[in-house]
Parts: sequence; structure tokens; C-alpha cells
Amino acid sequence: MSYDVIIIGTGPGGYVGAIKAAQLGLKVAVIEKRATPGGTCLNIGCIPSKALLHASEMFAHASHGMESLGIELAGVNLNLEKMLAHKDATVKSNVDGVAFLFKKNKIDWLTGTGKILAPGKVSVTSETGEVQEIDGKNIVIATGSDVAGIPGVDVAIDETVIISSTGGIALEKVPATMVVVGGGVIGLELGSVWSRLGAKVTVVEYLDQILGGMDGEVSKQFQRMLGKQGFEFKLGSKVTNVERTDAGARVTFEPVKGGEAQSIDADVVLIATGRKPYTEGLGLENVGVALDSRGRVEIDGSYRTNVSGIYAIGDVVKGPMLAHKAEDEGVAVAEIIAGQHGHVNYDCIPGVVYTQPEVASVGKTEEELKKAGTAYKVGKFPFMANGRARAMEATDGFVKVLADSTTDRVLGVHIVGFGAGEMIHEATVLMEFGGSAEDLGRTTHAHPTMSEAVKEAALGAWFKPIHT
Ligand SMILES: Cc1cc2nc3c(=O)[nH]c(=O)nc-3n(C[C@H](O)[C@H](O)[C@H](O)COP(=O)(O)OP(=O)(O)OC[C@H]3O[C@@H](n4cnc5c(N)ncnc54)[C@H](O)[C@@H]3O)c2cc1C
Repeated sequence: MSYDVIIIGTGPGGYVGAIKAAQLGLKVAVIEKRATPGGTCLNIGCIPSKALLHASEMFAHASHGMESLGIELAGVNLNLEKMLAHKDATVKSNVDGVAFLFKKNKIDWLTGTGKILAPGKVSVTSETGEVQEIDGKNIVIATGSDVAGIPGVDVAIDETVIISSTGGIALEKVPATMVVVGGGVIGLELGSVWSRLGAKVTVVEYLDQILGGMDGEVSKQFQRMLGKQGFEFKLGSKVTNVERTDAGARVTFEPVKGGEAQSIDADVVLIATGRKPYTEGLGLENVGVALDSRGRVEIDGSYRTNVSGIYAIGDVVKGPMLAHKAEDEGVAVAEIIAGQHGHVNYDCIPGVVYTQPEVASVGKTEEELKKAGTAYKVGKFPFMANGRARAMEATDGFVKVLADSTTDRVLGVHIVGFGAGEMIHEATVLMEFGGSAEDLGRTTHAHPTMSEAVKEAALGAWFKPIHT
């Protein structure tokens, strides 16, 4: 069989790229080694974790968050089996949706492991060992990423006691104690799920702050909020060993700056130290596709590898490991293959932590602006001063707008608060169009909404907010 485009991997990068290429009139095949399409994101990542985050948040709210609203609930019980079934049903409806879209767009979905044999030639090996070969004018590598483990530490992940995020969305019992190694997005999200359901969660993090790379002020305030929810943090701590014990597992760590080692025992240890690009068994050596020093497929500004006709997108290439970044690269690469001018604006990729409250950001942090020597202005507005937030008892958090001192152009927006993951998009659209703090501050926002805090923070960066 011969195709215009063969895409290896059906995560958000691969499946979106396939649909876009088909919409542009190209004949497309996708290869996926999982039984279901959708990649890490739909099967074991974004979607199942958000199903559990939502359900566990409802549980926590019903258990101790409604009395002040005049709602007295008694006998709130957890049925973890049902909660996990809700997660599984959510995953199923999403992966079924992708399968439907493949059919609708006449995309051939081949199940098996894809291997590049030569430029334009790919083999697909099924689980039972049958091999078929297909030809394609263009090949897109969209094989995503895998759990990275702890650098320099040999950890035996068994997905029951010492778990990765994959085990973290499927525990059959709420552990009494959990240690999360890594205070990044995935660790804090899954830590939140199990903390809300009753686990005592301790986060051990190498850096001096959680959510490394996020705006420092956001990270500090957010850590305080998680502390109030019962999280404990061991920052600046380097994990040197993780081992099974009779009762569970033991994590040993020492201060990064030097000092005595400590150990914590826990029922479950979640390893959430990041992900690494996945290129195993892909046959890159057959064609000489180059990798960079971090094992990612090297690409130019148009997603081209060093081998003509072979492209790469998503987690397997440079840039933030985010589903929407992979999706937009899928669209761009399809357009480029079709002879158009696909492009992604890497300065405007929002990032969201789906905890409670949520954390969302787009553009530069204060630390980045300082480092670059950019003169900037700051506008901040607390949700405490927002009418809707008070009505909803969602007054934790704030909005921070960073704008260029001279031009007033918005360079970064950071939000901690209920619904931050939705609110961030007005800032993203504004920044995509090169808007200023004055533009955002003068835009009418419906009252009463949480989003009025975004407007007020923008007014603060431009001149002065009204309500503080
Ligand atoms: C717990 C968790 C929560 C997350 N939450 C979010 C979130 O809320 N928001 C967000 O933006 N991102 C989130 N992410 C990250 C997100 O999942 C990834 O950024 C995204 O899935 C990357 O998409 P991709 O298409 O590059 O690769 P993937 O989704 O990893 O898909 C790659 C696919 O390729 C297949 N494959 C690999 N090699 C081969 C081969 N040789 N042949 C055939 N198939 C192959 C794999 O089986 C896989 O299905 C989360 C990740 C995790 C683990």
C-alpha cells in the first residue's frame, strides 16, 4: 500500500496531524502499537488524570467544603471502584471518538509497532509477529514519550507500590501514606487526587521550589495552598534510593546542598520525575535520523529531520511536553507536507496545573524577564477582591500580568485560582495578537466573573486597577 503520509504514533500529535492531512486531501495511514488510539494523553495521561482530579475534587468538596454554603451532607462515602470506572469510561469515550474520526476522514489505522526500514518504507509488526510493509512519500514520527525514572538511581517500578503516573491513575486502594518524588505538574496533580481521597502526601523535590520553571511567586503561593491541604514538602532534596520494604517502600534522600541523608517510609511511592522521548524500536538507525543530546529527534523549524521526507513532532522533539503543543505541531506538519505554511507560536503556549486551585500561565515569567534584561511592569489582582470569587468561596489566588515597560505589550500572564485553566486563554489570544495591558484592561468583561480579575490585573500593569 502506498500513502502520501505515514504517521507513527496516534497521540495528540499523530492523530491530529493525520486528521489535518486527510482534510487537506492527502492519503494517510497511522500506525499505533497500543490497542486504542490517542497516545499517552487519552489512555494514561491528560484524560484519565483529569477524570480522577474532577471526581476526587467533588469528593473532597462534599466531605468538608459545603457547610458554609448551607449544605449539610452526612455519610459521604468513597466508592473507589466506581470512581475508577468513571475514569475508564471517560478514556473509552475519548479513544472511541478518535477511532470514529479516523474512519470519518478515511485514515487507515494500522495496529502494530512501526519501524522505518528506509526513507519512504515502514514496517508494521503486529503483536502476534505478522509483518506488513507500507510505502509513504512522507513519514512523521509522533512516538511521544515514556516515564523517565530518577537520574542515576535504579528504581524498580512495579506499578503497585513503587508506581509511575500509569500506576497512579489505577490504585485499587487509597494508600494511607504516599511519597511523590518530583514536585512537577504530574506529581502534584496525582498527589492531589490521592490526598483528597485520604492519603498523607509528602513531595520530595530536587529544586528549591515546586513547579520548577513557573513564575517564582506563583510557585511559592501555590505551595502554601497545597500545604494547607495537608501536603508536606521536602525541597532541595536529592533522592538517592527507592526500595521495597515489607510494609511498602522507603525513599532515601539527602539535601542537595550537602548534609545528612533521611528516609521516609510510605505505602506507595509515586515516581514523577519527568518523561523522556520515546524512539525505541523505531529503526532510526536504519536511516540515520539524528537525535540531540537529550535523545530527542532533531528537527529544523519545519519539523524536518536530517533525512529528507521524515518529520517529527510532539513529545519526541524539543519543546514543552504538552498535548496541545503536540496537536498544534500535528496541524503545522500536515500543512507543511501539503505545501502550506504551517507554524506554531512557541511564545504563546499555555501551561495548566489542574489542581485546586488551578495554576495557569502563558508567556514569560518574572525570572525570565529579569534574566533577559527586559524592562517590565507588573499588575496583580487577588481573587479575594473579586465579587464572584467571594460568592463561590474561591478567593484563594491571584492574577499577575507582566507587560513591557515601554510598549505595554503583554509578555506573560500567571494565574493561581479556581478556573485558571479556562481564564488563561483570554491572555493567550491577546498575546497571540500582540495585545497590550491597556487592550486587556479596556476590554469589557462580564460581571460578576472570575475573569474580571484578569482585567483588573491588566489595568494594574497599564495604570491602576479599580477594585483594590
Ligand atoms: C499522567 C499524565 C498527565 C498528563 N496531563 C497532561 C495535561 O493535562 N495536559 C497536557 O497538555 N499534557 C499532559 N500530559 C502530557 C501529554 O500526555 C503529552 O504531552 C502528549 O501525550 C504528547 O503527545 P504525543 O502525540 O507527542 O505522544 P503520545 O501521546 O505519547 O503518543 C505517542 C504514541 O505513539 C505510540 N508509539 C510509540 N512508538 C511506536 C511505534 N514504534 N509504533 C507504533 N506506535 C508507537 C505510543 O504507543 C503512543 O500511543 C500528561 C502526561 C501524563 C503522563
